[in-house]
Amino acid sequence: MLLIYQSHLIWYPEIFLDNNVCVGIMSDSSERPKNSELKNCIADENSNCVVCELNGKLICVVNKKFANRFLIGNITYRVLALTILIFSGLLIGHWWMLISYAIILPLTFLVIEPRLLCSHCPFYEKEGKCLKCWALRGMPKLWEYKPGPATRTEKTVMLIFGMFIDVFPLVGSIWGIIHFALNTINNLFAGIGLIVITILFLIVAAYFSKILLGNACKKCANFSCSMNKVLEEIVKKFLEKNPKMKDAWIKAGWKEE
Ligand code: SF4
Ligand code: SF4
Repeated sequence: MLLIYQSHLIWYPEIFLDNNVCVGIMSDSSERPKNSELKNCIADENSNCVVCELNGKLICVVNKKFANRFLIGNITYRVLALTILIFSGLLIGHWWMLISYAIILPLTFLVIEPRLLCSHCPFYEKEGKCLKCWALRGMPKLWEYKPGPATRTEKTVMLIFGMFIDVFPLVGSIWGIIHFALNTINNLFAGIGLIVITILFLIVAAYFSKILLGNACKKCANFSCSMNKVLEEIVKKFLEKNPKMKDAWIKAGWKEE
């Protein structure tokens, strides 16, 4: 999720927390039973977020408006990436970049990212066969929920796939533009098309960077993601509310200072 994942094409702050889902339910979240089998408070429909001290400090509840904008931004980014690789294929004369991207892109979102990253996210424990979070909403849940943090290997492999789907189109763009520069007259259509699409791609990439890196990553509840920037004290408070997660984190080597 560079992508990312979004200025002022959208407006977001309070959208991270839409407490409608949790309003009027049961007692104060601080009174949740300390049962290790209890679902984490994001997945537990009985959580009372209204009185929770973390309300507004984490992206705990999905706001459909924000999630839809995120989805549109993400789809736009990927369509532009594929278009870049089509134009560069026209210029360079081979298609392996487009084909490999078209295969790895769905594989990443459908299988790899849900396994390596999402299966450790509190949202993954929600009911249902599809993800109900704000980012990869609707992806099938093929894996078991793992309350512990992602391992170093999982994070490394995820970074490799993430870099590929986010940055590889720029390799195709630069390569294609070099071909265009070497033979401008014969490649006017594809060359100009590639430059225009690359500019649009960079604008969407900046939009995603601002939203994700600048905001969402500071509030994302998937604390073990390499890009996560939630403050340690918030992580501690969240784990305190969720003993099953806390146990799994401690077993994985997390230390409460
Ligand atoms: S941390 Fe849990 S209880 Fe608190 S606002 Fe988020 S989902 Fe609700
Ligand atoms: S919010 Fe959680 S479940 Fe959704 S895409 Fe991010 S890591 Fe995956």
